[in-house]
Amino acid sequence: MGRKHKTGRFLRRAGIVVSLFFLVRQMPLYKPALEDPFSGQYWYNPYEQVHPGGRWLRANFHAHSNAWGFFTNGRKNTREDIVLKYDSLGYDIIGISDYQHITDSLALAGAGTPSAPRLYIPVYEHGFNVLKTHQSSIGARKVYWNDFILPQTWSQKQHILNRLQERAALVALNHPAWMGGYSQRDVRRLSGYHLFEVLNDFWISEGLWDVALSSGKPAMLIAGDDAHNVFKPTDLARDLTMIFSNSLPGTSCPPKTVYRALETGAAYGIEVTRRVARGSVVQKRACLDAMPVLQSCRIKGDSLVVVLTGRARQFNFIGQDGAFLKSVPGTADGAADSAFYILQAQDRYVRVKISLPDSSHLYLNPVMRTAAKNNKPTMPAVQKRRLFTIFDS
Ligand SMILES: [Zn+2]
Repeated sequence: MGRKHKTGRFLRRAGIVVSLFFLVRQMPLYKPALEDPFSGQYWYNPYEQVHPGGRWLRANFHAHSNAWGFFTNGRKNTREDIVLKYDSLGYDIIGISDYQHITDSLALAGAGTPSAPRLYIPVYEHGFNVLKTHQSSIGARKVYWNDFILPQTWSQKQHILNRLQERAALVALNHPAWMGGYSQRDVRRLSGYHLFEVLNDFWISEGLWDVALSSGKPAMLIAGDDAHNVFKPTDLARDLTMIFSNSLPGTSCPPKTVYRALETGAAYGIEVTRRVARGSVVQKRACLDAMPVLQSCRIKGDSLVVVLTGRARQFNFIGQDGAFLKSVPGTADGAADSAFYILQAQDRYVRVKISLPDSSHLYLNPVMRTAAKNNKPTMPAVQKRRLFTIFDS
């Protein structure tokens, strides 16, 4: 009898402890962001300002040095090694995104030319939890040290994004579909970030990006190597971001211009073909230098017209819920440098994915429906549940 009583009491207490644990884990609690597909009579085109007179900057914001020795498997892989490698690959922007650490501008000292020194963008990767729910802080001012180690509730993910946004110009969800770092349910509900790392050497999150876009989150694309060892060919120049700039060649462009281009979507992603991914630095450089760039992407009347500076094997137009809308030219042997799609009344967003003759891919940001002319749809506001507004840290 006595033993039975003891067991009962123990189970009750254990139950209370477990319940308390799960309750505390939910805090603070947020209301899910609205899941409203883009709407309105106008189209927002992120490439409206792109013209042949400007230039495209080659950028990588995701590379880890040996700052945290046990994370990297590189022999040396110092910050200088990273700068040197990306420099010889012709990159304009070299971001060193160590975990929980903002690399200072000294890492880039002496890089670039005397008249146009290397552009320094402060970045770091946030997160040290078990399921790799990571974020990039771009234009980072301060490191946010808190994280939730165990698999995170979406409210906890929202909480982190809010805190990161206060400390950086831009926040990106890193490799979101990798290891379930962010689920489909998460990205339908989450708000308060700017960029979605669709292309990452470890994981391509294209389908999950369509889930975010389809639920009305104007998340713009970013692509990055997530290099951990720059001496390994497959860590380098596989996924990169091209950023539009009006600055003249040989002159540097201010960081603010870069942040603005990323936020407004005047950028696109490149995923190089497998053969080049395994190639040498020289082969990679030659591939990138020869690759056509986006010449223009315009909306003329009800047509979305995309023009490249060179030939593509195929243009694919993709819309709401990842639906495949149109393919140009549609035959395997055809090749063209432009394509168009007639926007339909039911279209909420349309994005273009281009296959090049060597099987590299270009991923463009979407044109989106908007209620206010020339304005990008806004991220839905984030609200805490009433009871939890006291948990503010
Ligand atoms: Zn990561």
